[in-house]
Amino acid sequence: MKYSCPLCKSILTYSNYEFARCVQCDAYVRNPMTYLNHSDEHDRYKLHKNTLDNEPYLNFLTPLSLLIRKHVPLRSIGLDFGCGPVFAMEKLLKDTVSLNHYDAFFHPNDESLHQKYDFIILSEVIEHFHYPQKELQRLRGLLKSQGLLFIQTHRHDDIPSIKHWYYAKDPTHVFLCSLKTCQVIADMFDLKIIETTNRCVVLQAN
Ligand SMILES: [Zn+2]
Repeated sequence: MKYSCPLCKSILTYSNYEFARCVQCDAYVRNPMTYLNHSDEHDRYKLHKNTLDNEPYLNFLTPLSLLIRKHVPLRSIGLDFGCGPVFAMEKLLKDTVSLNHYDAFFHPNDESLHQKYDFIILSEVIEHFHYPQKELQRLRGLLKSQGLLFIQTHRHDDIPSIKHWYYAKDPTHVFLCSLKTCQVIADMFDLKIIETTNRCVVLQAN
């Protein structure tokens, strides 16, 4: 069965495994026939224990918060897109910047998508995008000139085979990036990569 890559539109061919690797952008894309429906996807997210007193969860997000503090000037305004049920990054960035929030499942607050931002956070979000090209296009339109896009996701750069990889086993993970995928995103949306860490990529709008 043939599909096109939801980022770069190259042809994807699925055999008997639920992911296909895009030859152009290097993303692993889940077969759309196996996507969860909206309600099952929501149920799955409700299982995550993402609360403001969950120390391991806050510790997990701390490296990204430090990267944001490093790159974003005080009093900037940002958007935490796909923030989940609670505003954990806001807690970690307290007294430095202000954040608006959007989450298609927990905070479908469309108003926050009608202004421009100094920075946008996609923390463990891009791997859930069914339509990454469309979502990234929309977010790019919300970034001010020189604005920053922080993408945190577990990249498959050093994963020899994703078949037994925990990240590919989560049925809500449908779009798995490598560093090459991030470079394709930069090229497609007039951004440049200014820093990479093991789990984060910082892109700046031209
Ligand atoms: Zn692609």
